[in-house]
Amino acid sequence: MKTVTLIVPCYNEAEVLPMMYKEVKRVVSGCPDYNFTLLFVNDGSRDKTLEILKKLAALDRSVKYISFSRNFGKEAAMLAGMKNADSEYIGIIDADLQHSPDLIPEMLDAVENEGYDVAAALRTDRTGESKFKSFLSGSFYKVINGVSEIQINDNAQDFRIMKRKVVDAIINMPETIRFSKGIFTWVGFNVKWFPHENRERAAGETKWSLRKLARYAVDGILGYTVSPLRIPLYLGFFSLFAAFILFVYGFVRLCVSSVWEGVTYVMLMSGILFMGGLILCSLGVAGEYLARIYTETKHRPNYIISETNVGVNMFASGSDGVSDD
Ligand code: UDP
Ligand code: MG
Repeated sequence: MKTVTLIVPCYNEAEVLPMMYKEVKRVVSGCPDYNFTLLFVNDGSRDKTLEILKKLAALDRSVKYISFSRNFGKEAAMLAGMKNADSEYIGIIDADLQHSPDLIPEMLDAVENEGYDVAAALRTDRTGESKFKSFLSGSFYKVINGVSEIQINDNAQDFRIMKRKVVDAIINMPETIRFSKGIFTWVGFNVKWFPHENRERAAGETKWSLRKLARYAVDGILGYTVSPLRIPLYLGFFSLFAAFILFVYGFVRLCVSSVWEGVTYVMLMSGILFMGGLILCSLGVAGEYLARIYTETKHRPNYIISETNVGVNMFASGSDGVSDD
């Protein structure tokens, strides 16, 4: 029997948890071929979330929980879940029933029988989200996809079921500032997308303030591109070019009329632009080194192997390569 762990990050979800548990149980009981574990990660909730989880765990052996000392954020909760899941398939689902558990059987079928490594939900609409939030999030994905090394689908959700090897790849990304949407894309693998209608939260309220979202956006962009560090270099080149043009213009005018009047200003301007250009270029060069240092410190693997028959190292990481059996 294949084992499946469903990770449920929970932050102040006491209101909705009993309902969510019942729903998931209903769906899971319709999949007798799998052995399910529900792994709840209590992300420092201040309500009765932990109490409820303990009660559920006492009644149901398939319920496990991890409880954080304080609120560390959904990224941390998902990571803790993935690091502590020991099943063949690992899923992530929100506690608020916005992710319909009814998709789980189909998702499992995709990874079990259709040869996919990941089955992930793709939001088809934005019901229940303000226009302003949709606009901000749309612009954010335009920026990140324009400047970074990865392409993130605007509508990709965290709701997914992954094979063990995918989760191994994800938890072997040693970076501390984690942006899962980026990581899920970065590791690659075969993904089957499941269109999924956005549903209203079953109870409680969203845990994402505008401030939290803004920080999330900055993490996403800074984590996947070093292009902002190149801006001074481009500006510097532009400035040097402008200095050169002005210099030539001044020089030609001097040759033609041999009068210094007016040319003095042009030459002065050219000199200022030249100095500014040099300074900006130096900053840009320093930025290039900084970018390399930044990239190196993330210790991301150079590649991730999906399948092989040589059976050795699945990750080409400088630091901690993990071997697969
Ligand atoms: N969550 C969490 N820690 C946080 C914020 C959220 O574990 O700091 C969980 C939350 O309990 C829920 C999921 O992440 O299960 C998604 O959060 P929410 O529904 O508030 O986000 P939204 O659906 O509004 O984007
Ligand atoms: Mg939600």
